[in-house]
Amino acid sequence: MIPFCDPSTCPAAGCVATVCTGAGVPSNRELFERSCRAIPGGVNSSIRAFTAVGGSPYVVARAQGPYVFDVEGTRYIDLVQSYGAVILGHAHPAITAAINAAAADGTSFGAPTPREMKLAEAIGERVASCERVRLMNSGTEATSTAVRLARGVTGRDLIVTFSGNFHGATDALLVAGGSGVATLGLPGTAGIPHATVANTIVAPYNVVPQLDEHVAAVIVEPVAANMGVVAPLAGFLAGLRAECDRVGALLIFDEVITGFRVGASGAQGLFDVRPDLTCFGKVIGGGLPIGAVGGRAEIMEGLTPIGKVFHAGTLAGNPIATAAGLAVLNELTDDIYHELRRRAQQLSEVLLDACASAGLTAQFPVTGTLVGIYLGDGPLPTNFDEAKTTNEAAYAALFQAALNQGIALAPGAYEALFVGLAHDDSVIDQIAMAAHSAAVAAKRALDS
Ligand SMILES: *Cc1c(COP(=O)(O)O)cnc(C)c1O
Repeated sequence: MIPFCDPSTCPAAGCVATVCTGAGVPSNRELFERSCRAIPGGVNSSIRAFTAVGGSPYVVARAQGPYVFDVEGTRYIDLVQSYGAVILGHAHPAITAAINAAAADGTSFGAPTPREMKLAEAIGERVASCERVRLMNSGTEATSTAVRLARGVTGRDLIVTFSGNFHGATDALLVAGGSGVATLGLPGTAGIPHATVANTIVAPYNVVPQLDEHVAAVIVEPVAANMGVVAPLAGFLAGLRAECDRVGALLIFDEVITGFRVGASGAQGLFDVRPDLTCFGKVIGGGLPIGAVGGRAEIMEGLTPIGKVFHAGTLAGNPIATAAGLAVLNELTDDIYHELRRRAQQLSEVLLDACASAGLTAQFPVTGTLVGIYLGDGPLPTNFDEAKTTNEAAYAALFQAALNQGIALAPGAYEALFVGLAHDDSVIDQIAMAAHSAAVAAKRALDS
């Protein structure tokens, strides 16, 4: 275990580090290298290793509001926000209080609790399609459970997914598609047998695929937020609804990012299309591990113990995660979403301005409260093939330059920029100033 640094015993004079390796002021690199000897690649989620942008990651000691602080004491304005799991800002007092209160009552029981009931009710009250809600531990668990449920209740095997959409580390959904047309999926990573994805079809985003009676479900990110931010074209989501209805397939919205982020009733509220099942995660746990599937009662009751589709989890509906999630949802009023939309717009404008004045080709599309980044010449992408024309080298340069200026972007060219309640006007002003210097530095690095 790494002890907290005690200034009276720390061998390094004037050490201000939050954690101590016992050998003086720890550096990010030293701690990361030590992690690499204990954890494969030093990370517990692959993107954190900085493979796509180069260099070695900052190691976070703590975070507060819009800021993260690394072990060297450097402060960054955080636009990662745990990839969207944190919407009110880090260590928000209402969430910290809810977590402390729940923890004091015991952490997990293996029995029903009022806290899980309240969170399920709160989701159902805000998202009309969710007549029943089953809670679990991650977005990955939510998508895999939704797929199993859809197959179980329809008695069909085929799942249709869209190229460039991400549904977590679920074998059946980790598929690589062909270019431009609907194809049978190929394993998206080593370790997945062909047979596991033999019933997954990959279609291009923003085109309604023609289905038949073998399709159990279509699963879609209603706003794609893992290939940059790509909005659904007019008629795409409604077209999916109609095509699913025509053949009796279920429509699953993966709202793990968009749920309670783009509005109180998620992307389905924003675009007024009602899915049969919805997957949640991220925001609904207030930064603690959580996932959920919600949907029509008769479908949801296909889950055990009522129905025949098995689902279970030792820590599912965890009292601390559900307390944090409920506290978050209680803070998210219409006024807050209004404010978040304004800030997303502001962030997009200041970043665009910084890049434009530095001569760096960039666009920052906004959908609801989500801000994307696209470093390409063309019109904004509408699908994965177009999204992949972003200049990844330019992103890496901008990422490094931004980090030097104290702004933490996600270490990958296809992630969203997450603005939250803690990014107030003064923080946006700081971002604007830092972004100007960063864009100039990135441009210079690219030109040299
Ligand atoms: C993050 C994400 C997931 C996976 O959620 P985890 O909690 O990381 O398992 C699934 N779908 C989408 C759209 C996501 O962004």
